[in-house]
Amino acid sequence: MSDFDQAAAVPPEAVHMLSDPDSGLEGVIVLHSTRLGPAAGGCRFWTYPGPQEMRRDALRLAEGMAYKNAMADLPLGGGKAVIRAPEGGFDRARLFAAFGRAVDRLRGTYVTAEDAGTGVTDMQAVSGATRHVAGLAASEGRPGGDPSPWTALGVFLAMQEAARRKLGTGLDGLTVAVQGLGHVGSALCALLHEAGARLIVSEPRSDVAAHVACRYGAMISHPQMIVEAKCDVFAPCALGAVLNARSIPKLRAAIVCGAANNVLASEEDGDRLAERGVLYAPDYVVNAGGIINVCAEYLGWSQEEVETRVRSTGDRLAAVLDHAERSATAPHRAADALARRRIAAVHPRAHSRAA
Ligand code: NAD
Repeated sequence: MSDFDQAAAVPPEAVHMLSDPDSGLEGVIVLHSTRLGPAAGGCRFWTYPGPQEMRRDALRLAEGMAYKNAMADLPLGGGKAVIRAPEGGFDRARLFAAFGRAVDRLRGTYVTAEDAGTGVTDMQAVSGATRHVAGLAASEGRPGGDPSPWTALGVFLAMQEAARRKLGTGLDGLTVAVQGLGHVGSALCALLHEAGARLIVSEPRSDVAAHVACRYGAMISHPQMIVEAKCDVFAPCALGAVLNARSIPKLRAAIVCGAANNVLASEEDGDRLAERGVLYAPDYVVNAGGIINVCAEYLGWSQEEVETRVRSTGDRLAAVLDHAERSATAPHRAADALARRRIAAVHPRAHSRAA
């Protein structure tokens, strides 16, 4: 079985291995697709047992970004960079400067930004070597900075659409279980509270959980119990693969709609949810607010453009759910099919140069 069979359903356009012994950089940039525009996707800095695991993660994440960007109607292809955290000491700014040079050598076919394990300071180090980077500090009311509030808004609007379709109601009076109170989860709780939803939350940082409980009258659940909380909506905003063969039978929610990437452990888990009558709002369809903000920063769009596009998240989810119904398939498969169709509809070289 090749890496592609294990990690991505469709082979990528290019895989660039990175090595710079002077700075300790060991990584990979995967360009899954540049058909819709430069391959955009953040840079993950993570600990991996070996280069194969790092490469597999990048292949899987890059394909996900291609589908996310296509479904968000962005003029971007999909890619991802993954850097393996060095085992010994290293100079972080030097390492990210070396990464920036690697990004620059790709001449704008790849655009990077933050992801798990990287932040604004790292992207600033990258920006010293290339202009093909976003996720820098916002300036003068222009898009930029922390994209999480936009991600939270998109998830919230998608949840409204899901509740309308599945339960025939708004969010007022519904119970939403939010897993993870980080950047997105906390902002989502604020929106849900304002909309009149009741909240159950889980978060390993007990001070953060207590703060949200106090502020929004939320109930706190033990992190290991939140999946089986009695609620209408389960909103995963922490980890991937939380919905799997073991957890799905315990789920009591009618809807799953959250920010976490790769929330299904496998394709079959999406089918399991559909078989149980749970409406699953595909992760990359509902959590695209952040990449919309990143795209706007890179392409120089206005803040108003970001808001208009994020506010269409509910409509984009509706289109996926309509397609799922028409084709008698589960929503995650409908989303993948629509994304692949959009990418395939564009001539390979139509947008293969840098923006
Ligand atoms: P974050 O790191 O700020 O928050 C994650 C939170 O989850 C942390 O507070 C952490 O303590 C908590 N957590 C960890 N393990 C947990 C567990 N077992 N149970 C409950 N909580 C747990 O990350 P974020 O930026 O809020 O992103 C949340 C998720 O959404 C991630 O999967 C991320 O990849 C995805 N996402 C984020 C954005 C964005 O704009 N930030 C965009 C798209 C997707």
